[in-house]
Amino acid sequence: MQDHLVKATVPGLRAFAAVTTNLVEDARERHDCYPIAAAALGRTMTATLLLAANLKNQESVTVRIAGNGILGEIIADADENGNVRGYVKNPHVDLPLREGKLDVGGAVGSGSIYVTRFTGLKHPFTGSSALVSGEIAEDVTNYLLVSEQTPSSVGLGVLVGQKLNVLASGGFFIQALPDADDSAISQLEKNLATIPSVSQMISSGLDAEGIIKEIFAGMTINFNDKYPVNFNCQCSSDKIEKVLISLGEDELTGLINEGHAEVVCHFCSEKYQFDAEYLRQLLERIKQKK
Ligand SMILES: [Zn+2]
Repeated sequence: MQDHLVKATVPGLRAFAAVTTNLVEDARERHDCYPIAAAALGRTMTATLLLAANLKNQESVTVRIAGNGILGEIIADADENGNVRGYVKNPHVDLPLREGKLDVGGAVGSGSIYVTRFTGLKHPFTGSSALVSGEIAEDVTNYLLVSEQTPSSVGLGVLVGQKLNVLASGGFFIQALPDADDSAISQLEKNLATIPSVSQMISSGLDAEGIIKEIFAGMTINFNDKYPVNFNCQCSSDKIEKVLISLGEDELTGLINEGHAEVVCHFCSEKYQFDAEYLRQLLERIKQKK
């Protein structure tokens, strides 16, 4: 199944749901994540895609989970076209299971969540709130309530298999619309109390439409939009070259003396190699601009 995101409404409520199994497995492979890191990064990337689903043209959102636990910071970027990228500072860490589950909250620790919205026109806006549990979904829900005054319900799940690969990943975001009546909200609450976890729903074969049908069971659903979602980093050798130029003459000369430079993109682990001859040309270009 191609990863995808679906938008839907029922009278008074709207929901987005996403299946992100392949892109989270892609991230796990790129960063060589241990299970707890794969789960934390996967939940964060999925949440970021769901937040980005609200955006308009040329906008993007960055979520930064800054906890004091063993994972270190987790950062994800997504845009409204379904592109997401992300990394976790310490992918090679582990904790014992807690009640049979990956202890993501313990590995994230306490701290803050930061959400930055890039609108393209205005200055980016960053809001933040304290982490509630480090389990990501509760933290995002609390952030939306406290910082953006948006009551919502967020569910996220990543299932990691015996071979340490990602078997299922996805999530949902539900928001009450201004015209929501009590009957819609009480039906939703009933549904949320009885549906399986996100990772159970996806591993049993449900797609994002299937998840929406579970969330909005008993209501008249309008499906509005569906699009593919992918791990996609915007890094390129051109952008890395600009970083090298910004280092300045002394640093570049040092790299030339070392014989080469290797630059690794944090977000996707892509390695960019530059040999001494190439670096010498960059240095010449800096000198000519003076
Ligand atoms: Zn990259």
